[in-house]
Amino acid sequence: MKIKKEVEGLTLEGESIKNKNETIITGKLKGKVQVECIKCLEPFLKEVDEEVKFKVVKPPYNGFDEEYDIIEQENFNLEEIIKSEIASIKSDYNVCPKCQNVEFNKEF
Ligand SMILES: [Zn+2]
Repeated sequence: MKIKKEVEGLTLEGESIKNKNETIITGKLKGKVQVECIKCLEPFLKEVDEEVKFKVVKPPYNGFDEEYDIIEQENFNLEEIIKSEIASIKSDYNVCPKCQNVEFNKEF
């Protein structure tokens, strides 16, 4: 099944395959997320464009999967998945373009 959903400026577009105990999602996460620079603490928009592979399973899940990111959900909810991706992007090591330039100038 084709899926497309946008949450807070981030769009997940791809395909979902529902199996008996799990839902497989493959696609692309694209858009802009407002994050905070870890250096100057200024908010800036981070461009996101990444391939994603999720396996959505009911908790508790004790397995392991090398190919897919495991997401435990009692009831399948695409919006929640995107929201948790946004949260993890926000908690990334984000450096704004201004501070990246400063680093660049120092090194060379
Ligand atoms: Zn900065």
